[in-house]
Amino acid sequence: MSDTTCILRLDDVDVFYGEVQALFGISIEVHEGEIISIIGSNGAGKTTTMRSISGLHSPRGGRILFEGEEITKQKSHQIVRKGIIYVPEGRLVFPSISVQDNLEMGAYSKRFSRRELNQHLEEQYALYPRLKERRTQLAGSLSGGEQQMLAIARGLMSDPKLVLFDEPSLGLAPVVVDDMFDTIVRINKERGVTVVLVEQNAFMALSISNRTYILENGTIKTGGKSSDLIESDEVKKAYLGG
Ligand code: ATP
Repeated sequence: MSDTTCILRLDDVDVFYGEVQALFGISIEVHEGEIISIIGSNGAGKTTTMRSISGLHSPRGGRILFEGEEITKQKSHQIVRKGIIYVPEGRLVFPSISVQDNLEMGAYSKRFSRRELNQHLEEQYALYPRLKERRTQLAGSLSGGEQQMLAIARGLMSDPKLVLFDEPSLGLAPVVVDDMFDTIVRINKERGVTVVLVEQNAFMALSISNRTYILENGTIKTGGKSSDLIESDEVKKAYLGG
């Protein structure tokens, strides 16, 4: 693929926590319009990769480029303004304010007019009608699945170009997990948002993504088309329960 379609590039990225190295020369390319998944066992470095892209943890070596511009040392609020949103593990909503107030906070960095804000609210409510029904309820009173929807919808309020999802299925009931992955596909297909997805549920991640990187011990072990990896005996044995 040509460089013009490359929206995000990690080039030989090294990340440390104190003196302990967590990522060793990670290189990842994400093209516009793709869904990329990152899978790997616990402690492989998946969350660290997401935190590095979103400016929450600064790499010690290498470069991160978004739309050709270096963002390696930028702060997270600058990165959000450029169009990258991180939806972290664990449904981090504000429990003591309403669903709608949570959503409006997601657009804070954009300084939208009231009209634009209402338009973005309606877009999220179209994606998740249940949130519209519950818009005046306190976010803390929603079910786990609804809070995860709210966390995603809040991220989408700022009209991002790239969304980083960290374990969106964690702790959700199986029926809600399917809805969650359907929504990620809709966000990508209907809104043209590029997606990077970190998942323990390797089968779902491989099923909905175009390409996958497998991370082990802070390095990229392998990568390729998800449809090829899902058929690989090695991947089946290591990540898909045989
Ligand atoms: P999990 O699926 O368990 O969250 P992961 O693939 O997301 O795993 P990371 O959380 O990125 O892995 O962790 C990568 C490595 O960095 C691990 O060895 C972990 O112990 C270490 N690590 C993560 N966060 C910190 C921290 N705040 N301080 C020190 N070490 C950390």
